Amino acid sequence: MATHERETGLIAPYGNRLVNLVVSAEARAALIEKAKHLPSVQISARSMCDLELLAVGAFSPLDRFLTEEDYRSVLATMRLADGVLFPIPLTLPVESADGLELGRELVLRSPTNEMLAVMRLEGVYPWDLEEEATAVLGTTDSRHPLVSEMHTWGRWCLSGPLTVFNLPRHKDLPDLRKTPAEVRSLLAAMGRENVVAYQPRHPMHRAHEAFTKEAALQIDGSLLIHPVAGFTNHGEDVENYTRIRCYKTLIENYYDGGRTVLNVIPLAVRMAGPRAGLWHGIINRNYGVSHLIVGRDPHSLSEGSYKTAFYDSRDVQELFLQLESEIGVRMIRHKEMIYLPQSKQYEESGRVARGMDEYIRVSATTVIEDSLFRGTQLPEWFTHPEISQILSDANPPKDRQGFCVWLTGLPSSGKSTIAETLLPMLMAKGRKVTFLDGDVVRTHLAKGLGFGKEDRVTNILRVGFVASEVVRHEGVAICALISPYAHAREQARAMVGRERFIEVFVDTPVSLCEQRDVKGMYTQAKRGDLKGFTGVDDVYELPRSPDLRINTSSMTPDESARMIIGELVQKGFIAQERRREPKGLPVGAAA
Ligand code: ADP
Repeated sequence: MATHERETGLIAPYGNRLVNLVVSAEARAALIEKAKHLPSVQISARSMCDLELLAVGAFSPLDRFLTEEDYRSVLATMRLADGVLFPIPLTLPVESADGLELGRELVLRSPTNEMLAVMRLEGVYPWDLEEEATAVLGTTDSRHPLVSEMHTWGRWCLSGPLTVFNLPRHKDLPDLRKTPAEVRSLLAAMGRENVVAYQPRHPMHRAHEAFTKEAALQIDGSLLIHPVAGFTNHGEDVENYTRIRCYKTLIENYYDGGRTVLNVIPLAVRMAGPRAGLWHGIINRNYGVSHLIVGRDPHSLSEGSYKTAFYDSRDVQELFLQLESEIGVRMIRHKEMIYLPQSKQYEESGRVARGMDEYIRVSATTVIEDSLFRGTQLPEWFTHPEISQILSDANPPKDRQGFCVWLTGLPSSGKSTIAETLLPMLMAKGRKVTFLDGDVVRTHLAKGLGFGKEDRVTNILRVGFVASEVVRHEGVAICALISPYAHAREQARAMVGRERFIEVFVDTPVSLCEQRDVKGMYTQAKRGDLKGFTGVDDVYELPRSPDLRINTSSMTPDESARMIIGELVQKGFIAQERRREPKGLPVGAAA
């Protein structure tokens, strides 16, 4: 069972001691001087988050990226080689280990070249995407955002003891990013042994408020509101900023300051379902948490936006329960709250008498779609006016928000033709449209890139990056490129934002594409004059669950473009001809 720290009364860190890899103030200058002369390894934004949390002890007792022995053991058993439960393989993947010598020191640099830490290299080992994804995520499906990202990780993992001399500087909300030791001292000052943590992923509304307050009372403990805002896919930063402003405002105005702490963890999430749930338990314990609210789907992926359910939330809770005494953190099940209009109160759904029909099930998505995205304020029973204001400032009505239509398909399938037909239709709706055509971008943005796999992926990611910028600024991006790799399309989707990315599969049979052969390239490829041509001798990975599938053998370009418009209307990105008045939520209706 978990031990308690004698001095503070809080639960002891996992493994009893908080790791601290940060160099002392006295030794820092000399270490930086030395680092300038060491061989460098540039690490990814994800690894930088991992390094930061390793350095401050959030992954205690882990004090380095996994050794090969620990890595193999974590994949197979969720445990380090010494048997300690640690379900997520925290590795440092790099593209190449050429020129690095075992036993020698090297300096780890950020993606923008800042020097962060010195590592003595003790191990270099390869890893295998399929093996790791299967063991940890239970899938190799590239619709899983971590799987698609893993395709970009380096093939070699480095390990060895670390001394960190520069922690990443967070420019957004730096005062809310405390270390485990700092959070512990805030919690200790509140004088309660028990601490319950809640890790919201979306803005918190009154139902969440009622639930978290109730959870703290139930265990006579303090409350840690502990959102994650670490490595994010491009474009989520603004959303994170808004989300955290909502928490801050809510806590300052509506929570008991003597029992509530808000802290933001720079954690690079893994979205690994049950394994991730446990991992979050361990991490939270290091911050002084004795109880964790484990939600319906806290660390997994919602079915709606991923088109498939990767994890069952019950499995997350079940594994947690099974191992909670070992990690020392108790689970509090996230309960569904419903609103009782007559008494103007929230209540757990299980506590409401049967047959009572005057209640409202609260679904944030539905309420937000119904009001905020239609340009009206959120109802006060649902959220406080201050929060409603922050959200409406940050979110224009849905039909003014940006989105990306991504047309993928074989050469000559009809992508450009459909895009060119769609473009004026969108402009007629008053939208500002950027058209990124595969052939055209190759004359500037992607100039010099070839048609090998790596260059094609780079091309897709560049277009994805530009599209994400357009969309972030409330514009419309139409992208028409073969984009033959599922994982690269998924990365583009993640960059743009899942809800704003409409994947249109232009599903024209290869025989018809060959017949059209707009540029005569099928003929050349079939003659063998052109190598690596998609559809002839190069792969096209079919979209598993596109938002739309268009068969151009049975539809004209005009019909195809109208079908896309229909989808956009349905998603709310284009207003219907006659706007519906916003309606209230049906009373007693399931959301
Ligand atoms: P891609 O951009 O996919 O390489 P293009 O749009 O450049 O393909 O070429 C598709 C060719 O097929 C064009 O010449 C277009 O006129 C013709 N075409 C015939 N029927 C259709 C249809 N229903 N939808 C799209 N294109 C069609």
